[in-house]
Amino acid sequence: MRSPPPNRYRTAWAGDLRPGDVGADVRVAGWVHRRRDHGGLIFIDLRDRTGLLQLVFRPEEAPDAHAAAHGLRSEDVITAAGSLSPREEGTVNRGMSTGEVELSVTEMELLADSETPPFQIDEDTPVEEELRLRYRYLDLRRDQMRSAMELRGAITHTMRRHLHDQGFLEIETPILTRSTPEGARDYLVPSRLQRGSWYALPQSPQLFKQLLMVAGYERYFQIARCFRDEDFRADRQPEFTQLDVEMSFVEEDDVMRVCDQLLGAVLAVAGVEVSLPLERMAYDEVMLRYGTDRPDRRIGMDIHDLGAAFAGSEFKVFTSALASGGVVRGFRANGDFSRARLDELTERAKELGAKGLVWAVVESDGWRSPIAKFLSTEETADAGAELQAGEGDTLFIVADEERVAARVLGRLRIEVAGPPSGHDLFWVTDFPMFEWSDEESRWDALHHPFTAPQGDLDADPGTWRSRAYDVVMDGLEIGGGSIRIDRPDVQRKVFDALALSSEEATRRFGFLLEALRYGAPPHGGIAFGLDRVVALLGGRDSIRQVIAFPKTASGSDPMTGAPAPVGETQLRELGIRPSGAGSEGRA
Ligand code: ASP
Repeated sequence: MRSPPPNRYRTAWAGDLRPGDVGADVRVAGWVHRRRDHGGLIFIDLRDRTGLLQLVFRPEEAPDAHAAAHGLRSEDVITAAGSLSPREEGTVNRGMSTGEVELSVTEMELLADSETPPFQIDEDTPVEEELRLRYRYLDLRRDQMRSAMELRGAITHTMRRHLHDQGFLEIETPILTRSTPEGARDYLVPSRLQRGSWYALPQSPQLFKQLLMVAGYERYFQIARCFRDEDFRADRQPEFTQLDVEMSFVEEDDVMRVCDQLLGAVLAVAGVEVSLPLERMAYDEVMLRYGTDRPDRRIGMDIHDLGAAFAGSEFKVFTSALASGGVVRGFRANGDFSRARLDELTERAKELGAKGLVWAVVESDGWRSPIAKFLSTEETADAGAELQAGEGDTLFIVADEERVAARVLGRLRIEVAGPPSGHDLFWVTDFPMFEWSDEESRWDALHHPFTAPQGDLDADPGTWRSRAYDVVMDGLEIGGGSIRIDRPDVQRKVFDALALSSEEATRRFGFLLEALRYGAPPHGGIAFGLDRVVALLGGRDSIRQVIAFPKTASGSDPMTGAPAPVGETQLRELGIRPSGAGSEGRA
């Protein structure tokens, strides 16, 4: 950080002082991180945002300061002045960036004292998360959180600078708005002035960013808060942050190229290098090779289709799966597996919905496998060649409906893998436009209903593809977007496929549909999950660790107590009958 403008509290940052500053008169301010009484001498590690500095209080040199230091306790706030000295030989601390120097204090003032904190700030001991969130302002003082916040700040700064340099304008869009199309449940806010009407908090700025393209802004971005009222799912937050981007007069490749450069800059903040442009892989191939559209490719063990190898097999499980339109697929695993582990994996495959799991160990004289006797040498040779299997490898094969085989092998691949290292980013393209919802017996948009379709729009919607693209990093989707529909007739077709009536579409998105009639340029964009990107780059396993004030899994904030009941008067003003929890009534 740039040196602070000197004032009554400080003339330097604690963490910045180095041997070159020895001899200078310095004043620092911050928190008592640690205190040690060594006979006559008192040592205090003073902490500010930049780091730690050792302060020494000597009774003979500064009796008043020394006496005052005697009473200091952890997390008290002080300002101290003195001259910077080199540490004595043998007391240099290499583990501390200011470890070669110390401040010989001549004057110290206590600015605020602290109660004993409910957990240690100066140590990285595990603390129950509920307690950390209850005292988040103390938790944020800890090194782990401070470094996460610094990384987050550096990343958002890089995003802003990079996009600004590329001609993107940062524009804010409303928080009090109408329902947006991401398909989750809305958070609603009652209107006091128009009783009976409600705002929705945006699930994303999707519609507004499209309107900004209609408005001619060409290149927009926003670091935007999004709100989705979803049931508990691992590592979700009811409000989260996206880097939201939209561009006009573009096709997929234009958006992806901008994003490649942006991601390169963002990853560099964390010292991660990737080779650009990022690889692009079509959805069908991704699903075949990894059984999921957000694979972790770092672990290898790609899935292969073995249908051709086993087409004429005597092993009925394979041939009947193929005959009924299913598939035979498998992967070659790294490592040895005990018999017990193989049985466990077979059980696991069944739990995941497969009828069974075939395993085989490649040995010098053929496959060792419970089904070896049903397989010809030619079949095992063909399958082995497809999987590039060599002696000692273990193979896992599933014969089932395509959906099941993909899912089960995709999961087993992860479960047998060791911990991956490094990072992997790539694009998934050419998604299906819709997925079938059994629950509602209609098509659902895989992205959102404003995503442009491609292919023959007179054919069965199940065959349509979309012009959407996702970025996957280390097995997680970190961004997704699409080229948008810019023609009312195409939008109508998509709504039809989604069984969304004209009335319903007009009621929900009428303003956008209207705007599309006033000269909408071809446009497209993307949104990146900022919390997720920071967590991945910071090596944190939860996005809560990179959000200053997150909510617990049940959506509450142990510090503020939100969500909380409100008084009857406030409810009445909003026209809501205060009849207790669960009431939906409005007066
Ligand atoms: N609005 C989309 C989302 O939040 C992203 C996009 O299509 O740009 O997932």
